[in-house]
Amino acid sequence: MTADAFEHSSDPAAQQEAAPAAERAAERRRMVEWHLEARGIRDRRVLDAMGSVPREAFLPPALARDAYADSPLPLGGGQTISQPYIVALTAEAAGLRPGDRVLDVGTGSGYAAAVYAAIVGEVWSVEFVPELADDARRRLAAAGVHDVHVVTGDGTLGLEQHAPFDAILAAAAGPDIPRPWIDQLAEGGRIVMPLERSAGWQQLVRVTKHGSDVTVDDLGAVRFVPLRGAHGTG
Ligand code: SAH
Repeated sequence: MTADAFEHSSDPAAQQEAAPAAERAAERRRMVEWHLEARGIRDRRVLDAMGSVPREAFLPPALARDAYADSPLPLGGGQTISQPYIVALTAEAAGLRPGDRVLDVGTGSGYAAAVYAAIVGEVWSVEFVPELADDARRRLAAAGVHDVHVVTGDGTLGLEQHAPFDAILAAAAGPDIPRPWIDQLAEGGRIVMPLERSAGWQQLVRVTKHGSDVTVDDLGAVRFVPLRGAHGTG
């Protein structure tokens, strides 16, 4: 679907960079095998979703050929599209299931939101930077992804009107778990987010809500852009 939209693009740069859909699909299968399964991602739903979402559709055309390298890539404005392994790890740690109500904070390109939507169905995704939100809406539509709702605003406030969420997933690192996220989490719900531990060092954590209590599991060291906004770095 997306590869088609891409190949029919009137943008000459996009045409030049677009490889045949079959070639991209083969690269995507290799990514799932080498970068995800080989590194311990086991959840079949996550592997299938990562194997179905065309990452090249969320990149500037000049970077399409790098779509299946397992690295973050620049989106412009100092922002990045998340590394495939980290998207998969986040989705697996959150235990996403079909029908879960998901809030994604930091839409960026829209890629991670599209992966989560391939597992759960509808996703609410909040992006701070209006231009990035507009681009993400355009890319998601071009990729045929219609169940991601991109909202422009401060994701640290959550999205009260669509709460409670089974999972809140963040792609930007804050100093603390934003209080509105805990309040807007369903019983048994999970937050997966990077926490800033010291300068240049972050830890991906999973927070699970049990009544008025939470448990926190460490998922390892990571590197994300800063989480801005009222309950972020400001
Ligand atoms: N998951 C994205 C990558 C996101 S990069 C992808 O797959 O492409 C992190 C994003 O978080 C950036 O776009 C940044 O603008 C956004 N961001 C930072 N603070 C935010 C906040 N408080 N609310 C919403 N978005 C925020």
